[in-house]
Amino acid sequence: MPAKVDMDKIVSLCKRRGFVFPSSEIYGGLASCWDYGPMGVELKRNVRDAWWKAVVHERDDVVGLDTSIMMHPRVWVASGHVDGFTDPLVECKSCHLRWRADELEKQRCPQCDGELTEPRMFNLMFKTSMGPVEEEASTIYLRPETAQGIFVNFENVITTSRKKLPMGIAQTGKSFRNEITTGNFIFRTREFEQLELEYFVKPGTDGEWFDYWVKERFDWYVKLGIRKENLRLRQHGKDELAHYAKDCYDIDYLFPMGWSELEGIANRGDFDLTQHAKSSGKELIYYDAEANEKYVPYVIEPSAGVDRSVLAFLLDAYDEEEVEGEKRTVVRLHPALAPIKVAVLPLSRNEKLTPMAKAVYRQLCPSFVIDYDDSQSIGRRYRRQDEIGTPFCVTVDFESLEDKQVTIRDRDSLAQIRVPVEELNKILEAKLKGEAFDASSLWATRQK
Ligand code: ATP
Repeated sequence: MPAKVDMDKIVSLCKRRGFVFPSSEIYGGLASCWDYGPMGVELKRNVRDAWWKAVVHERDDVVGLDTSIMMHPRVWVASGHVDGFTDPLVECKSCHLRWRADELEKQRCPQCDGELTEPRMFNLMFKTSMGPVEEEASTIYLRPETAQGIFVNFENVITTSRKKLPMGIAQTGKSFRNEITTGNFIFRTREFEQLELEYFVKPGTDGEWFDYWVKERFDWYVKLGIRKENLRLRQHGKDELAHYAKDCYDIDYLFPMGWSELEGIANRGDFDLTQHAKSSGKELIYYDAEANEKYVPYVIEPSAGVDRSVLAFLLDAYDEEEVEGEKRTVVRLHPALAPIKVAVLPLSRNEKLTPMAKAVYRQLCPSFVIDYDDSQSIGRRYRRQDEIGTPFCVTVDFESLEDKQVTIRDRDSLAQIRVPVEELNKILEAKLKGEAFDASSLWATRQK
């Protein structure tokens, strides 16, 4: 495993292989905005799906929700964002660059060492106006988090889902923050996608559910391949806690710029439901029929980012090694996250091989995300698949035409095995689920 991966290497791989491109690149790009290419969109979707599977589908106590990005402006007054979602901004008096005062090591401009203005609180919400008349009454915000859409729907979901507490509501979607300083590729951007769960519990049980979700969320990253030593839990100090939070842990990842937050898990108490009840005049409580008691639930919130997770998964999976005297770059993504699961590669673009290779492609297509590639040498095509993290390549060669067998190549061990085409789907399915590569007597294993 490499000691540490440079961000530059990941940025370059992402551009070269179609994971992430600068936004509006032909116009010179737009600061801190990025577009996900053909590989990136699959990886991102797989991260989102893996989260949804773990947090919603594999549980009977969590349901999903998809709320609008634009919400009633009073939501953001009640939640505290209009008054409190601010960062201290300073401006350099010489070069006029702006900085977040709390992130500066010394109170001088990091760019030109110029003198800085006094900090002023800068609200991070993007404002826009709804409807054709730009007047005060029509000012709305792009949501800076998906969580508030969940709180304002608490009553709707509780009554329609027939769930009892403890229960959770999960949502994924875009959020927007006019961050003063962005950077580190897709780590901090002004438009990003969140993965948020609000887990409602009876007050008094919140401590144990908080611990439960911290562990659950930490283990999710490990199960999907992130090395434990690159993750840590960090409890927020009293001075760092948001005004509503009783307790908060960050799951940090060792990014190239140092330990930084990947996900935050907060015990928000009853702050949000109480605020929205006060502000809307609607009662937001839970009635426990068995105990015949009413209460405002407490909420545990694991809040993660898709883009930051994509970056961490790529960094952790990136590897360079020497194989038979040549450098190989390989991205060892977990099969559940890999954009392409299997690549079908005829040994060469040859009219005799193509029909069989295409038939294998069509056979696999309904069950797996497949790439078919017959351009360039087989070595280059393997290299491309290694760099996009494809776990298995299936090669059709001239012998295949005779014996109806194909070769499967394993991305990580580079072992190759020959299997009958009719058993290919079953074998690949087992391999993608993690069955050992050399478990069957069919294997004629070639060690790297
Ligand atoms: P930070 O301290 O890094 O600004 P935060 O504590 O403000 O983050 P939260 O409000 O807890 O972040 O948001 C939850 C998650 O959403 C973060 O852990 C991160 O994964 C993601 N996130 C927040 N802001 C951004 C951003 N500007 N760009 C990309 N992802 C973000």
